[in-house]
Amino acid sequence: MCGIVGAVARRDIVPVLIEGLRRLEYRGYDSCGVAVLNGDGIGLVRTVSRVNDLASKVKDTRGQTGIAHTRWATHGVPATENAHPLVSRGEIAVVHNGIIENHDELRAALQAKGYAFDSQTDTEVIAHLVHSLDRGDLLDAVRRAAGQLKGAYAIAVVSKKNPGTVVGARAGSPLVVGVGEGERFLASDAMALAGTTDRIAYLEDGDIVAIGRQGWRVVDATGNAATREVRTVKTS
Ligand code: GLU
Repeated sequence: MCGIVGAVARRDIVPVLIEGLRRLEYRGYDSCGVAVLNGDGIGLVRTVSRVNDLASKVKDTRGQTGIAHTRWATHGVPATENAHPLVSRGEIAVVHNGIIENHDELRAALQAKGYAFDSQTDTEVIAHLVHSLDRGDLLDAVRRAAGQLKGAYAIAVVSKKNPGTVVGARAGSPLVVGVGEGERFLASDAMALAGTTDRIAYLEDGDIVAIGRQGWRVVDATGNAATREVRTVKTS
């Protein structure tokens, strides 16, 4: 098992991402990484080491929108190029828990469209697929990508074109939204957000969610807008 953390805030979210990964470390992992939107593009830091090592590598990284991951490799050896986030053309970054079963056929279709693959992971197909479908509305691009994915997954996605937004999706793997004051979070487990917020909404299978500083919205498996109850949970 491995972990996902995402955050959108006015403050620098890198410490929240690192703290979230630390709280998920007990699950085991072989590598970890962070991607933040930094104005010019995507700042990406990955390591085949511990979260402590990642923390020292991100000392000079700042951002208000970002995603982070601890990986337990299923497709591709533990290596820096296979660590998450996986990035498409410098514009879309994705973290993923789970397995994409139809990654071979999706990879072939994306290669035919000119997408170059830099990793051996099943996850990289998600990054390129979202990129290929992105017309400026990231939630819509992820929703259409999810329609082509087979397997069990939770994902979090950021796009250079959508600063201030993190989009998540879940199908068979858990994903929650954390609600703070003017800041929102995603995590594979509410425990990752302990100390950050205890106001948690549990997403349902098939949900796609977009979080921003001012709010969040959910589209359910049928494509309709949905509301998910926010509860106060004991996270520590
Ligand atoms: N299947 C993906 C990979 O091998 C995600 C593994 C995970 O859940 O950490 O990179």
